Amino acid sequence: MDFDYDSSNIFARILRGEIPAKVVFENEHALAFHDVRPQAPVHLLVIPKGPYMSLDHFAAEATAVEQAGFLSAVAAVCGMEELGQGFRAIANTRTHGGQEVPHFHVHILGGRPLGPMLSQA
Ligand code: AMP
Repeated sequence: MDFDYDSSNIFARILRGEIPAKVVFENEHALAFHDVRPQAPVHLLVIPKGPYMSLDHFAAEATAVEQAGFLSAVAAVCGMEELGQGFRAIANTRTHGGQEVPHFHVHILGGRPLGPMLSQA
């Protein structure tokens, strides 16, 4: 698979400080911030700082240190008290996955029972 990262995407702009975000956690390799259109009482996005377009791109090409830094940020946000009863982590990927922003991100949703994973097969 060829991964072709486009650095004009909105999350790259957030990382460059060109547009604001409500940041809840940051480390050397990852940033976590509130989704602008929350779909649950808690709806956060965790992104790597490196130029990876999708989960499979990140898994294939990010260094072990970048992957550890990203998972450390996931651990930090998932430790929030509001997520203590559980959460859902989603990584929409490319067209069939419904990915809108082509910079790898994991949605962390929670704060209420979330129901079934998909509404239809
Ligand atoms: P996806 O469909 O997985 O690519 O989801 C992209 C998510 O990014 C959506 O849930 C949007 O609401 C969210 N989003 C788009 N622009 C921004 C922004 N400037 N700040 C925070 N979240 C955003």
